[in-house]
Amino acid sequence: MENNKKPWPLTTVCGIRERIDTNPDFQRPAVWSKSQKQLLIDTILRNYDVPKMYWRKLSSKPDQYDVVDGQQRLRAIWEFRAGEYRIAKDADSINGDAIAGLSYEELPDELRMRFDIYPLDVVVITDTDEDEVREMFLRLQNGTTLKAQEKRNAMPGKMRDFVKDLADHKFFTICGFANRRYTFDHVAAQMILLELTSSICNVKNADLNKMYKLQKDFDNKSEKAKKIKRLLDYLFDTFEEKTPELERYNAISLYALISYLSEKYVIKDRKGEIKDWFLDFEKYRKEEIKKSEDEADPEIIAYHGRISHSTDSIDSLKWRHELLSRHLFESIPDIKFKDNNRTFTHEQRLAIYRRDKGLCQLTLKCDGANKCEWDNWHADHITPWSKGGETTVSNGQIACQECNLSKGDR
Ligand SMILES: [Zn+2]
Repeated sequence: MENNKKPWPLTTVCGIRERIDTNPDFQRPAVWSKSQKQLLIDTILRNYDVPKMYWRKLSSKPDQYDVVDGQQRLRAIWEFRAGEYRIAKDADSINGDAIAGLSYEELPDELRMRFDIYPLDVVVITDTDEDEVREMFLRLQNGTTLKAQEKRNAMPGKMRDFVKDLADHKFFTICGFANRRYTFDHVAAQMILLELTSSICNVKNADLNKMYKLQKDFDNKSEKAKKIKRLLDYLFDTFEEKTPELERYNAISLYALISYLSEKYVIKDRKGEIKDWFLDFEKYRKEEIKKSEDEADPEIIAYHGRISHSTDSIDSLKWRHELLSRHLFESIPDIKFKDNNRTFTHEQRLAIYRRDKGLCQLTLKCDGANKCEWDNWHADHITPWSKGGETTVSNGQIACQECNLSKGDR
């Protein structure tokens, strides 16, 4: 983590309001009363010191920030500047100027200018991940507000016991993240929720709390419970040794991916290839994010955003799942169905489309030079399905509608 502390004039702070997110996942909603806000403005107009703020820089050009600490103060400043409330009616005058009951616009010029150029100390944090920010937030709040997993661990019930049991699985010992504040329990609970929902879902603290309550009689011998353990065994056998790339968000994404694949595809003997694919993907990702924004793979830049912000939201998880599954099928194109299904799946189609660059490969009627629209092409079996051809990415190709129809005529 890198910190850069400098004073920001309030006009600047107000000017970039649109680019500052005051409600990242780990924050509480605004709770300041009007008199607390008025006191802060009074403090600023008297040139007294205001405690420094912590922002995390999420991206550049244009710069975007998360507020790690200081959101109530920031809101109070913005709202006063926008005329949403006035100075307290009983405020004392400053250097002989009466300020009681005035709005920003009504302030004497000198005081308005003092407000505008007031230097707010802001520590901008870069080069950090969400876990580190959560930890920092907790410390800034004296650790009193948000021990979400610690609170869950105090909730009696069989779900709590199952989570604790799962958090002891050897898979977590080879992951790249530490068990700070019960992170293993937290991630284990997220995996369980994904499995119980049978699809990608929100896995934020509120969703986990709900699961603990609804599933307090959870049967740790149930099929779902066995499947979760089996998948963690699979993931452990896949990586076998300490793997720094298995960061928290990756562990959750990989779990969701393997869980999904295990239902439909034969992945039993694919552990080595899956490991290689994943480590290659991570290597590629780390190379791309070092490049300048014009040169880097825009998908990887977008992926990077999804793993540094709101990582536990359904949007982020779904987006990552789609990208990872396509990359996996590009890398291991002959993964087979459990039953030889004739229809290509969404993730297979994504991989075929990308590999064939959107161009018809059948070329019975066309010359294969026109790019097919994503929703207007047919996934064609190279060796026909009727002749035993597999429904795999490696036996699939793009056929444009015209060529596909002509094939049917023959
Ligand atoms: Zn064609």
